[in-house]
Amino acid sequence: MSELTEVNGKGHMVFAERDVVELAETFQTPLFVYNVEKVRKNARAFVEGFKKAGVKAQVAYASKAFSSVAMLQVAKQEGLSLDVVSQGELYTAMKADFPMEKIHLHGNNKSREELKMALDQHIGCIVVDNFHDITLLKELLKDYNGTMDVLIRVTPGIEAHTHDYILTGNEDSKFGFDLKNQAKQAYDQIQQIDQLHLKGLHCHIGSQIFETDGFIMAIKRLYEVLADWYKQDGFEATVLNLGGGFGIRYTDEDKPLPLDDYVLALVKEVTEEADTHGLSLPEIWIEPGRAIVGDTAITLYEIGSKKEIPNMRNYVSVDGGMTDNIRPALYQAKYEAIIANKARAPKTYPCSIAGKCCESGDMLIYDTLLPEVTPGDILAVFSTGAYGYSMASHYNRFAKPAVVFVENEEATLVVKRETYADVIQNDLSYE
Ligand SMILES: *Cc1c(COP(=O)(O)O)cnc(C)c1O
Repeated sequence: MSELTEVNGKGHMVFAERDVVELAETFQTPLFVYNVEKVRKNARAFVEGFKKAGVKAQVAYASKAFSSVAMLQVAKQEGLSLDVVSQGELYTAMKADFPMEKIHLHGNNKSREELKMALDQHIGCIVVDNFHDITLLKELLKDYNGTMDVLIRVTPGIEAHTHDYILTGNEDSKFGFDLKNQAKQAYDQIQQIDQLHLKGLHCHIGSQIFETDGFIMAIKRLYEVLADWYKQDGFEATVLNLGGGFGIRYTDEDKPLPLDDYVLALVKEVTEEADTHGLSLPEIWIEPGRAIVGDTAITLYEIGSKKEIPNMRNYVSVDGGMTDNIRPALYQAKYEAIIANKARAPKTYPCSIAGKCCESGDMLIYDTLLPEVTPGDILAVFSTGAYGYSMASHYNRFAKPAVVFVENEEATLVVKRETYADVIQNDLSYE
């Protein structure tokens, strides 16, 4: 992004048509700033892609990427569906007045309470992940008047090209049923429960995926199973959920496809497979998280101390770190950054950017170039919209940052900065 950064007459970085240095002054740092127009643009690329292809679809925002009431309100305005994986995410959706029939519940260890909440709220679909889900649902449905739509989550054994830690689609995964044996057992058990309506299959092959091959291979695998089930009992899937994982640009190394390219590739393959096996075309559901919000936000920090180790490394420290962005520490994720108040200055200072937590691994960026750094400079890190705030922690008893939405040049606080009273709010005295 940095080469595309807009700069105003003061030499300040401009983001979503706002002077970023002014935003930092107004809202303090660390600060997440979202360009809501970009969020809408990403959402529309998927939605319009399916419309253009003339296929029935649901684009479900994977809310774990960034869940807040305001964010879910935007998702609702854009006509997206919603994935939740916990009671907390479902509760947030309720508070955002999200249409319950467009919500899908995931999770590899759904509790009885979570499943009960999903039934009580009449959400749209539960993605069954394991036999325990089926047992619990069977029990809960005894006291429940009505039906629930379900998908069976399978692991098609496809390796998406990404970092191992965030790979969830291969067979050695805690998620889903293996396609060879368990999926059919799950199918048989679900078909015996009248109140469960099996809509089809779900798979999610990984994250930060830059090609369509993995999805295409997964679709082929799913259709081998669907063809068997059709032959055996005439079962036809009405939904095929192909998960999320569409890649975005963090640094120059990342070469994402236009979002509607993924859509077209999925539609083409599903249409061909359905035709080949003489099956009717199902609705296609996808679950982008990162691709909706990842490249729509920046994080602003204030630079403080510096440590220079001759012939080794210069450390520049900021007033946040792994507590607001754990991805570099967790996955060696890479980011780019600039000094927002010196957006035009030549980048002559080689350095690495450290957080302020008590962990040597609390680093945001290794080996980058910045202009000469002075305390008080505002650092802007790009593409922090996904899995940043949502993975924020209170480590070292840091208060979580604020989140601001910018749209039509207007900046609106949508998540307040925590106070230290918030941080200790559940602590009880013991004296
Ligand atoms: C995490 C996840 C997603 C979203 O992944 P992104 O990489 O953010 O698009 C979608 N579906 C499931 C089941 C997931 O676990």
